[in-house]
Amino acid sequence: MAKFERIYRWLPVWTQNLLVSIYGRYWHWARFGGNYQQHEDSYRQREGFSDDEWEAWQKKRLKDLVGICVRHVPYYKKAWSQETWQAALKGELSALPLLEKTALRQDSGQFLRQDQKPLIKFPFHTSGSTGTPISVVYTLSELRNSLALREVRSANWAGVSFDEPRATFSGRIIEHDPDEETHIYRYNRPEKQIYFSAFHLKPETAPRYVEALWQHGTKWLTGYAVSYYLLAKFILAQGLQVPALKAVITTSEKVTPQMRETMQQAYGCRVFEEYSTVENALFASECEAGRLHVSPDVGIVEILHPDGSPCLPGEGGEVVTTCLARSYQPLVRFRLGDLAAWDPEPCPCGRNMPVIKEVVGRIEDVVTGPDGRQLVRFHGIFVDQPNVVKGQIIQETLDTFSVRVVPSPNFGETDVENIIQRMKQRLGDNVQVVVETVSEIPLTKAGKFRAVISKVR
Ligand SMILES: [Zn+2]
Repeated sequence: MAKFERIYRWLPVWTQNLLVSIYGRYWHWARFGGNYQQHEDSYRQREGFSDDEWEAWQKKRLKDLVGICVRHVPYYKKAWSQETWQAALKGELSALPLLEKTALRQDSGQFLRQDQKPLIKFPFHTSGSTGTPISVVYTLSELRNSLALREVRSANWAGVSFDEPRATFSGRIIEHDPDEETHIYRYNRPEKQIYFSAFHLKPETAPRYVEALWQHGTKWLTGYAVSYYLLAKFILAQGLQVPALKAVITTSEKVTPQMRETMQQAYGCRVFEEYSTVENALFASECEAGRLHVSPDVGIVEILHPDGSPCLPGEGGEVVTTCLARSYQPLVRFRLGDLAAWDPEPCPCGRNMPVIKEVVGRIEDVVTGPDGRQLVRFHGIFVDQPNVVKGQIIQETLDTFSVRVVPSPNFGETDVENIIQRMKQRLGDNVQVVVETVSEIPLTKAGKFRAVISKVR
């Protein structure tokens, strides 16, 4: 792939578009060919399950999965004692140990089942906060399964479909020149899909993004929440006209109420949130009633206290999931590194699928105050700060913070004081805060924007 990217980089844009389309045709087959339709039908059918049907379905799947793990997967053969997996076979999932991301990171091959040798494999790499990649391997059928899931539970719930033209913001590097301002996207014709570059988004390039939506008759948007939020801010500030869109489905980052409002205003349509992982170990999507339902056929999701006991509805805890949608590389009681809570209120839409009340944030983005309290969603500091184009908070030590700001022309001393005051309000008067203005805040390797970085563990 690296070789391909080196060649791609030197080709003219029209050839890049052609290549993207050829690549797109292959991917279209890989994603929507073969047994894709079957997957779609079964996701639709299970949506009407009662609580008992879900329980029975999960129990059967778990039993099969544990059987595969103890017979064919080197990691679990070594890591699990006989008593624990026998208890798990009876449905006592809590008997099994939690799985750390580091185990998968160290040797993801140990998690592949030995009795299958798929002809085509689809590896996906995630960089993670430590920068060490995790390799997640899908089979062809698992890939189609994951797409069918997104069509039925995400796109359809939002009133759209993969058949309609869409635009995507992701971590793909589609343009290597960081100063390029015209060719900020590539077009995949077979899927009528625009790939936007998350790396080139700034006030000067925003009109190009909007033009692309007009040019390709885009009906819905999907991908990185923060990228769409930033684009929305530029659209509103510059008064840009956006074509009629049906929905924005955000992935990746948590959407705050303020982000949602800004996006809905700029794009003139509803924002639907999707909470999922590259491992496809957990999938939650927003229904028409605005609640985030977990799909029980994707994974068995647990929310746990630090001592490992299950949280009651409404109590925040750590998200642990056992992946049922993929079994070539089984993940059992996988610690995602997210904090969330179950919603005690049933959803008026009537689906018997558990509702997650709040995905509070990534554990890695939690800021720890000098008095030990843990604060999440810290980027709230920048809410209603019209002169902050982008902001990032870095916790250097327990009581020192740097705040990086990409300022608008009107940014001044009052804004700096306001930020410092807000930080002290949340963390106490004894913290030291340095605000620096920068021209750009670099994205992570995966093209994601991190609003909060804590160097304190
Ligand atoms: Zn609902």
